[in-house]
Amino acid sequence: MSDAQFDYDLFVIGAGSGGVRASRIAAGYGARVAVAEEYRIGGTCVIRGCVPKKLLVYGSHFAEELQDAANYGWTVEKTTFDWPTLRDAVLRDVDRLNSAYTSTLETHHVDRFLERATITGPNSVRLSASGREITAKTILVATGAWPVMPEFEGSEHCITSNEVFHLEQLPRRVVISGAGYIALEFAGIFNALGSHVTVVNRSETLLRGYDEALRDRLLQITMARGIQYRFNCPFEKVVKREDGVLEVWLKGQPDPILADQVMVATGRKPNTDGLGLENAGVTLGDKGQIVVDERAQTSCPSIYAVGDVTDRVQLTPVAIREGQAFADRVFGGKHTVIDYSCIPSAVFSQPPLAGVGPTEGQARNLYGSIKVYSSDFRPMKNIFGHRPERGLYKMIVDAATDKVLALHMIGPDAPEILQAAAIAVKAGLTKADFDATVALHPSMAEELVLMK
Ligand code: NDP
Repeated sequence: MSDAQFDYDLFVIGAGSGGVRASRIAAGYGARVAVAEEYRIGGTCVIRGCVPKKLLVYGSHFAEELQDAANYGWTVEKTTFDWPTLRDAVLRDVDRLNSAYTSTLETHHVDRFLERATITGPNSVRLSASGREITAKTILVATGAWPVMPEFEGSEHCITSNEVFHLEQLPRRVVISGAGYIALEFAGIFNALGSHVTVVNRSETLLRGYDEALRDRLLQITMARGIQYRFNCPFEKVVKREDGVLEVWLKGQPDPILADQVMVATGRKPNTDGLGLENAGVTLGDKGQIVVDERAQTSCPSIYAVGDVTDRVQLTPVAIREGQAFADRVFGGKHTVIDYSCIPSAVFSQPPLAGVGPTEGQARNLYGSIKVYSSDFRPMKNIFGHRPERGLYKMIVDAATDKVLALHMIGPDAPEILQAAAIAVKAGLTKADFDATVALHPSMAEELVLMK
């Protein structure tokens, strides 16, 4: 079949961060591109993930600002919080972004099919609503991931991060299962908005993968803020009483926790079920993820995959990079290779934490001899606000070369500060380079160049 005999040069399944980027870049190179999306253009990050979550974080921060206001001379007579107002404002912003993503595809002349597509062969897909069969020289799967709901009795009474943005009312009591990114971000939001929050995890570890000292600090601060934790407590069942209250029974515990909402945040599974990948001989890994090589190519040469569906690094900016690199390589003739080292990440808990590079434990294993510098300080804003909470920054340095291997931070604005500092780590700068930089005073970020 010649290229012109295919309906499209590229058919993308999934219009999230990776799929939209790949579509518009490929179209920019002159490819005839179509994308199928079964829900809303924008994907998890924009529609029910990073963006609406961050807006809820902003909304919940007012609790602290309003508390502090009196210290700065402001009289705030009576404060009330209205969940539907915040929820609807956030959802309106999601609509705005959904339109912006749609018009990006329009202006790049990418055809859009708002229905589910399944793969019927190496070069063909079927649209499920219309039943239409479409051929394409190349297919890109960018279908993302979906919240995992572990099996337990009463799981149908629980919500995930998909539903949390649409709650009719703010729950008075919330139980959150899991102690990863989503669990701790929503624990912070609900706690600040006034809900009673209990975080329940199957192990005794929260935020696995982050530096231990920061995790301990987060635990300590959030407990002082009123979040309760139950570790080593797998769910047994959730029972819905006649009055609507949920009883959360934990294995080995004599009494249930009572809640108005139970949110499960126990990881996300690649979205490959029912995609028809077997029709093209695409190999899947043990978690159902699409196995790809460094060029994002699957075991079927005409089919590629990017983003969370490949279960490599489940982060939006990584999916975007993968989508861009795929389009540059396949349609732009470039030899782009993605460098997965030094990817910064953050948890928008309250306070937030952020990191780039290996944890102290990982660095010891990798490099043997390391130096660890830290700054344990009380941010000026917390002193003035009479909050005892302390920030903690850690810098990990290769003892042999003086190169800064990693930075880990918890405290106000940590993600904003870390994004800038990550450039220095990525560039391979040394501790001496940090020390040679004059502090910017007064700021929290100045701690980075003052660590002893
Ligand atoms: P995480 O992988 O961060 O955390 C999963 C949590 O659930 C862990 O505490 C884990 O416990 C627990 N868990 C895992 N499996 C089970 C199970 N079968 N039963 C009970 N508990 C279980 O997942 P999230 O859902 O929070 O987030 C998914 C991904 O989305 C993240 O990995 C991240 O890549 C991305 N994300 C990124 C954000 C950001 O960049 N700020 C924000 C939100 C999501 P244990 O550790 O003990 O195994």
